[in-house]
Parts: sequence; structure tokens; C-alpha cells
Amino acid sequence: HGRVTEIRKRVLLAKPRGYCAGVDRAVQTVEEALKLYGAPIYVRKQIVHNKHVVSTLEKRGAIFVEENEEVPEGATVVFSAHGVAPDVHEQAKARNLKSIDATCPLVTKVHQEAKRFAADDYDILLIGHDGHEEVVGTSGEAPAHIQLVDGPDGVDDVTVRDPAKVVWLSQTTLSVDETMETVARLKTRLPLLQSPPSDDICYATQNRQQVVKEIAPDCDVVIVVGSKNSSNSVRLVEVALEAGAGAGHLVDFATEIDDAWLHEATTVGVSSGASVPDELVMQVLAHLAERGFGEVTEYTTTEERLSFSLPKELRRDMKARD
Ligand code: SF4
Repeated sequence: HGRVTEIRKRVLLAKPRGYCAGVDRAVQTVEEALKLYGAPIYVRKQIVHNKHVVSTLEKRGAIFVEENEEVPEGATVVFSAHGVAPDVHEQAKARNLKSIDATCPLVTKVHQEAKRFAADDYDILLIGHDGHEEVVGTSGEAPAHIQLVDGPDGVDDVTVRDPAKVVWLSQTTLSVDETMETVARLKTRLPLLQSPPSDDICYATQNRQQVVKEIAPDCDVVIVVGSKNSSNSVRLVEVALEAGAGAGHLVDFATEIDDAWLHEATTVGVSSGASVPDELVMQVLAHLAERGFGEVTEYTTTEERLSFSLPKELRRDMKARD
């Protein structure tokens, strides 16, 4: 006699997920600037790489531009969390813009490392994704000293002046495992390669990858909420697949979930990138519940408590107002 066992459908919800301290600060910076100075507030590049966040701020009066030239002389401009090269600050000064720098302090840390190693005349191998805003900003600190290494396949193109004076640095939102592979390959060519003084891949990136890695083997499909241009979100899908998830998908909104992804699934993993407000994850959970995945277990690997104070130029004006 066959026994009919009811298949229990469930969701494994990753924690930590979503907003990191740097994104929280950057979004708050634009919100506070809108309150303090009134609309419009110009923002150079997407403040964080998330569609929903950008469109919400646009509705409140933020105007997103690509370059300083698009900002009217004398207006207020916020620089995004990904950081900017020094010449962007200079352009802003030349246009008499009031700039507020929302660069994540953990990105600024990498800029400082780049400056310091460049001052010591090191060759700097910056591991990162070609064209990503953060990499453009960091490279701008010392263009003559920095060369980009875009993953393990970029290693063969590296040339250095003195193999005893080389350091690697990285973008903050890379895959930890892939970066280690890149470094291992670099070391076979450059045994004296130095490592960054502290982790450049930030705590938020590492923590979100860690929990996804742990739940992925139990998941038939992992759904990551995040935008296509969000480096850390895209990495989460890759990490999930690498760690054994049956499938992995990136969605900006719950409505993008294809029912076909769920047909054969009993366990669905859910996480979100560092630029994603949790309301979007809640919408995904509601969407899944309507399809029989109402049982949600939150799987927590660590509690995050970090927060950053707002940019000092903003705090100064807030104080003057109060
Ligand atoms: Fe900062 Fe990391 Fe968040 Fe980027 S992902 S804003 S580096 S904390």
C-alpha cells in the first residue's frame, strides 16, 4: 500500500539580508537633504543600485544625473554610496555645487588604502568588475598605479614593474570565493603579492553570501531580490548556485516570479541584496504564500549591528537648523 505523504512546501528566509549600514546611510542622506534644503536635490548616479529605491526618491524630489555637468550651478548634489574619483569633487567645486558625499565609509577605506600604497609607489591590482562605479571611483585615486583584474580570467594580463612591490585590493561587493581564486592565481605569478591590510569585501557582502551558502543546498530554488546592476545581489545568485541550489533567480519585484520556477519546488530560499528595502522581500513572501509556500523559517547566521553616522557636511547643516 502506498502512503500519501503531504509534501510540505516551505521558505527558508536568509538573515542577514537586505539593507547594509552603507545603503541605509546613503538613502537617509538623500531623504534628509530633501527635508533640509527642499526639492530638487540632485544625485550623481543611482544613490544605491536598486530600482525601487531610486523611483521612490524620485517621487520625493530627487533628480538622478550621470555627471556633475547636468547639475545646475550652485545646486546641491549627493554623491552615491559607491564612491567617486577625486576629479568628481573638483568638478563639483568648479561648478560651485554644494556636494554631500554619501560614499560608504567602507568604500572610502579602500580609497585610503589605494592612496597609501600608491604614495609608497606600489603597483596595485584592483580586483573588481570592469565599469562598475565603485571600481571607477577607486581607480581614480591613483590611475597610474592601479590596474583592474576582472576575476580569475583577468590574471594573465597583469604586468607589474617590481614583483616585490605589489598589493591587491578589491571592490567591496565581490564573491568571496571567486576573489580568493583570483588571488591564488595571482600568487602563482606574483609570489610576493601583498594582501590588503583588512578585508575589502565588506561585512555585509560576506554575511549575505555566508547565509545563502548555508541554505542553498536545501533549496530547490533560491530567489534573490535585487536589481540587475547591483553587484552584491548578482553575486548572491551565483553563490547560491555554486553552493548547490537547484536554481537561482534575481528579481526586482515579486511580480517577476515565474510560477514555473515553483512547480517542482518544495523548498524556496529567499534573500535580498544590500540595497533592497525589506518591504520588497515581504511582498515576495506574500506572493509565495499565495502559491502554497506559507511556512517561513528564518535562518540566521549572524546579527548585524553596524550603523554609520550621516555625512558630516549634512550633520553640520542639520545642527544649524535645529
Ligand atoms: Fe558599504 Fe558594503 Fe553596503 Fe557597499 S555593501 S554600501 S561597501 S556596507
